[in-house]
Amino acid sequence: QAKSLGGNSYQIFDESMSQRAIDKVALEDEARGALVNDNFSFALQPQIELDTGKLVGFEALLRWEHPERGFVSPGYFIPILESTEFMLTLGYWCIESAFKLLKKFNTYGYPNLKIAINLAGIQFLDPDLIPYLEEKIKDTKLKPELLELELTERTLVSDVEKTTAIMQQLIDKGFIISIDDFGTGYSSLSYLKRMPAHYIKIDQAFIDGMVNNDADKQIVNSTVAMVQNLNMQVIAEGIEQQIQVDMLKDIGCDMAQGYFIARPIPEAILFDELEKYCSDGIWQYPKPGN
Ligand code: C2E
Ligand code: MG
Ligand code: MG
Ligand code: MG
Repeated sequence: QAKSLGGNSYQIFDESMSQRAIDKVALEDEARGALVNDNFSFALQPQIELDTGKLVGFEALLRWEHPERGFVSPGYFIPILESTEFMLTLGYWCIESAFKLLKKFNTYGYPNLKIAINLAGIQFLDPDLIPYLEEKIKDTKLKPELLELELTERTLVSDVEKTTAIMQQLIDKGFIISIDDFGTGYSSLSYLKRMPAHYIKIDQAFIDGMVNNDADKQIVNSTVAMVQNLNMQVIAEGIEQQIQVDMLKDIGCDMAQGYFIARPIPEAILFDELEKYCSDGIWQYPKPGN
C-alpha cells in the first residue's frame, strides 16, 4: 500500500511538473506575441530623497496588458520567464525603453531624473549586457549615472565571484547599482562587506513590520547604520503610511519609495503627473485623496 501510494505521489508530482513546463512554454509564446503587439509598457514609481523630498528618479516596473487576462503582474510572469531565452529579449527591450525615457526627460526639461530598472539574473550574467549598455551610452550621449541597475540578492548569491566582478565593471563604467529586496535573499554579512553597490533597497516586509514589530524596527535601524558605514545608501521600499516616513527619517534612511509617496504611474501620463506633483524638484505627497 505504502509503495503504491509512493508511486502515485510520484506520478502526481511528475504530472504537475510537466503541466508547469507546458504553462511555461505557453506563457513564453504569449509574451513573445505581446512584445510584437506592443503590449508591454512601464509604470514609473517615484523615488525621493527622504530629508529634502527631492525627486531623484523613478523605478521602471514592467506592465503587460493582456487582451483577455487584462493586466498581468510582473510578480507572476517574471519568475516564469526568468528561466527562458525570451527573458533576454524582453530585458533588452526594457533597457532600450529606459534609455528612450531618459532622452525624453532631457527633452522635457528634467535632465537629472534617473531611471532604475530591474535585471533578471540571466540578464545580469549575459556577456552582451555591458557592451550593449556602452553602445547605448555612446549613441544617446546620456550620462551612465542616470541609469540604475537593480539586481536581487538571489542573483548575487548565485555566483558571488562572477556577479561582484560584473557589478564592479558596471560601476567602473559609471552606472549605478542597487541590491533589491535586501534582507530576503540569504546574503551574508561577508557578502555585504565586499558588495560593489551604491544602494541597498530594504525589502518591503521590514518596512511593513517596523510599525508594530520592534524586532523589524531594530533590523531596519541596524541595516541603515551598517550600510551607511560601508559607504552605501539605503532605499526603503513599500512605504504606505506617514508613520513609516517619520520613523525612517528619524533613523536616517536616505531614500524612499512606496504607495504613500506615489503609486507606479503609467508612462502615458508620466509627464502630466510630473507637471502636477513635482515643483522645484520636490515631489509633493501624499497625493490629495490618496
Ligand atoms: P520590485 O523590484 O521589488 O518592485 C517593487 C514592487 O512593489 C512593485 O510591484 C511595486 O509596484 C510594488 N510596490 C511599490 N510600492 C508599494 C507599496 O507601497 N505597497 C505595496 N503593497 N507594493 C508596492 P510590481 O510592479 O508588481 O513588480 C513586482 C516585481 O516584478 C518587482 O519587484 C521586480 O522584481 C519584478 N519586475 C518588475 N519589472 C521588472 C522588469 O522590467 N524586469 C525584471 N527582470 N523584473 C521586473
Ligand atoms: Mg526593484
Ligand atoms: Mg524590491
Ligand atoms: Mg520586491
